[in-house]
Amino acid sequence: HGDLKETCDVSQREKCSEETDERITRYSRDTNEKWAHFIAKIDEAVSAYKPCAADKCSCHYHLIKDDLFVFKDGISKETLQSARESTFHTSLNDLQVIDKLPDMEMVINTRDWPQVPQSYGMKMPVFSFSKTEEYIDITYPAWTFWEGGPAISLYPTGLGRWDLHRASLAAASKKWQWQIKKTQAFFRGSRTSSERDPLIYLSRDSPHLVNAQYTKNQAWKSDADTLFAPPASEVSLEDHCQYKYLFNYRGVAASFRFKHLFLCGSLVFHSEDRWIEFFYPRMKPWVHYIPVRTGASKNEIRELLQFAQENDPVVSQIAERGQNFIKNHLRMKDVLCYWKKLLVSYASLLNYQPLHEDKLVEITKKS
Ligand code: UDP
Repeated sequence: HGDLKETCDVSQREKCSEETDERITRYSRDTNEKWAHFIAKIDEAVSAYKPCAADKCSCHYHLIKDDLFVFKDGISKETLQSARESTFHTSLNDLQVIDKLPDMEMVINTRDWPQVPQSYGMKMPVFSFSKTEEYIDITYPAWTFWEGGPAISLYPTGLGRWDLHRASLAAASKKWQWQIKKTQAFFRGSRTSSERDPLIYLSRDSPHLVNAQYTKNQAWKSDADTLFAPPASEVSLEDHCQYKYLFNYRGVAASFRFKHLFLCGSLVFHSEDRWIEFFYPRMKPWVHYIPVRTGASKNEIRELLQFAQENDPVVSQIAERGQNFIKNHLRMKDVLCYWKKLLVSYASLLNYQPLHEDKLVEITKKS
């Protein structure tokens, strides 16, 4: 509205004020009409949304039920053997919850990519951290909550330690309150998926609107891998909090970046490529984040950003809801609780007594 107020001669003040009011009303009406379709989506999504109960992990429990439904008739030794024979890593777990678990045998996929497409028609129980609906892998909370994850120069031993990130991002979000954040979109990451390209191109066209650049990863060979620009310096997740609009795209599978972005208290733009981690299904478009169509063009992204800029009070509430969701339902205890419920439910489906095998190496808790 500031732009609509013009300087006015003192003698004309009353008339000017009426004209200005009229212009502001017209502007608001035009703006409302222009964005009515997005506002309607928000209203609809928010009224359909049922918040999770506060208790540990009941929020995410339905995914355990969905994932294990395929195995409702039980898991035999032969079924498990078939999963093992497909070269997957077999492991006993060494989680903090181990003392509370029954004996069990399981197969953990340590790669990014899920392993059991529905189209195989084989019911192999394999635990993977990310998948789409085309896979029947059983979703488990990724290792990066504790340690490891992508190693970049800023995080040489991996992104890891969600508990520490939760604390440091809370501090960064306090420092960069919504009102003082830069009204600009931000992305730093490598080209693990070309879906990220339109945002990079938009940044090159409109640097005032978007600050998005590709960084190097281990696979980088030449500038071609950073869309023919030199690799950008890496930026810590805490420093992402300076910006109002943060983008998330899938990488090889779901990107570990997603959960961190919310804790900045910034507005997350999420390209919904159907790749999930265990906590994604309870997060809803327009309630917790702005959905970006898979394969969205530069113009589609530009339109979403204009919507955000012109509807600041509305979108700040989306940012707040997203932040609160991750704060309240993705605590370390929620992650552990999910593991425990998942393993107890899974173990109840084994219809044989797992025996100790000499060739397996025992993994014990770190001292
Ligand atoms: N990352 C970061 N700052 C950067 C580049 C990457 O914090 O400048 C983080 C990013 O948030 C992600 C991880 O490093 O969690 C790996 O990012 P990349 O884009 O390379 O791969 P992704 O896992 O997203 O496919």
